[in-house]
Amino acid sequence: MDLERIIKKFNAHFPHQEEQERLIRKAASFAKEVHGHQLRASKEPYFNHLLETAYKLAEWRMDATTIAAGFLHDVLEDCQIPKEVLEKEFGAEIAFIVDGVTKLGELKYRQEKEEDEKNEAESLRKMILAISKDLRVIFVKLADRLHNIKTLQFLPQPKQKRIALETAEIYAPIAYRLGMQSLAGELEDLTFPYLYPKEYAWLKENVKESYQEREAYLKKLEPQVREQLAKAGVYPLAIDYRAKRLFSLYKKLIRYNMNLEQVYDLVAFRIIVKTIEECYLTMGVIHQIWPPMPGRIKDYIALPKPNGYQSLHTTVFCVNNRPTEFQIRTQEMHEQAENGAAAHWFYESKKGSKEYSEKKAIAADLKEALWIKQLKEWQNQFPGSREFIEAIKVDFFSDRIFVLTPKGMVIDLPAGSTPVDFAYKIHTKIGDSCVGAKVNNRIVPLDYQLQSGDVVEILTQKSKKPSPNWLGFVKTRHAKKKIKSALKDITPLKKVEFQITCQDKIGLIKDISSVFSRNHIHISDIETKSKGHFPTIKIIADINKKEKAEEILIKLKKIKEVKEVGYKVVN
Ligand code: MN
Repeated sequence: MDLERIIKKFNAHFPHQEEQERLIRKAASFAKEVHGHQLRASKEPYFNHLLETAYKLAEWRMDATTIAAGFLHDVLEDCQIPKEVLEKEFGAEIAFIVDGVTKLGELKYRQEKEEDEKNEAESLRKMILAISKDLRVIFVKLADRLHNIKTLQFLPQPKQKRIALETAEIYAPIAYRLGMQSLAGELEDLTFPYLYPKEYAWLKENVKESYQEREAYLKKLEPQVREQLAKAGVYPLAIDYRAKRLFSLYKKLIRYNMNLEQVYDLVAFRIIVKTIEECYLTMGVIHQIWPPMPGRIKDYIALPKPNGYQSLHTTVFCVNNRPTEFQIRTQEMHEQAENGAAAHWFYESKKGSKEYSEKKAIAADLKEALWIKQLKEWQNQFPGSREFIEAIKVDFFSDRIFVLTPKGMVIDLPAGSTPVDFAYKIHTKIGDSCVGAKVNNRIVPLDYQLQSGDVVEILTQKSKKPSPNWLGFVKTRHAKKKIKSALKDITPLKKVEFQITCQDKIGLIKDISSVFSRNHIHISDIETKSKGHFPTIKIIADINKKEKAEEILIKLKKIKEVKEVGYKVVN
């Protein structure tokens, strides 16, 4: 890879833009200089990574600003260049994108407890979009990640796993939702050997023949398809065979008990035609030659997938009754399917190329662009945020904020939330016993308004109760409800007397009283009496709920020497 290839790619999409071209060259030489002799883990010069990242962006037809940001994306983090310097040299827009990419680099995805896994990944994906504000931040991050994952073999094993997992769980789904299916599939396939090495080896071994055999079969069909289409006056722009991606094949095989015979789209016939009418006409022609399989006709033209994907899919009983999948689409749909939001970005940036460069956030500019529709749809999956559609003009998720626990777990809250909302979201006990909060390591008041990206730590004190004042500033209904119910619980204490009959033993009193202290119950009096064989211990404790007294009773009974226990409310 070298700079000239990138310039050539850029010029192919944006001809005669000398000033823009100079910007790319300037960013490249700046990056080369400040990264100096730094090496990648592969022992290659660091600059290679930047060339690869920038080339991908040029290939996705990004503008010069984005390509320049691609060259500069690691200078804040790895070269300690201050953001102001970048701003002075390259302008606010590039500095903004690079800063965004750097911030994303600080977010790490770790698999948490099983039941939280899904939510955490989802929150992190949303947080990434919220922090990015400008889609070009994501494009640079995706190009960066693609090269990183291609060179993952040079990293130590635990790091490989973490990055592969983060890529499969976070970045590939983001690419998919932005309609960049081809990138999403590539990212997934690259993580496959790291995440499931055994399954990957099995699949590679077993699928090879099938692929080759099916491809040969489709090749034989092609002339016949062309001939029949020509009779109907359809001359396809392209016909090719699309092999199913390994990782998505694997996911499908799990559903079909690893039976390759049942996967009909292992290799599919793809026909690209000129117009939508020709798409339907082509499907009609195919159905005339071979009968369609019921339930396998999918019209993603009339009903696009949420990420914008459009195509007609049908599986027919082909030669020798063999189920064979056809995918039919126009060139434009094909491009959208491959590059999604990136394809849109290109068309939109060409439309308003002059004024555009003065704007920082692109969202306002692209109200009607498809990816915004996608994001809206996505947001609609999360109820209670109708204002989102208005807010999207300036920000992706301005009605939500995404903050982190000290362990890096992402917590999703409505904008305007306070540390108390955060504490209740983590756990009722933490909310109830909250006495203070630190945000980014600094003590803040409890009514402080949290911002996306804040790291929040809650300071607690045992047996502390919530204050009624909190109801004046908390944002979430959840916190309000919990505070109210905790306040209700603060009723005057009652005294409960326990009568315990037991076999004497050294340390028994300590065993018994520790049941109380472990449950944060105050003992106000202990009395021991010897009566007959067994001593009796009388304990008076402050307990305000019957359930709590029952709980203590059960725990006391578990002590080996305890023979009998009873209690009554004394007050
Ligand atoms: Mn990088």
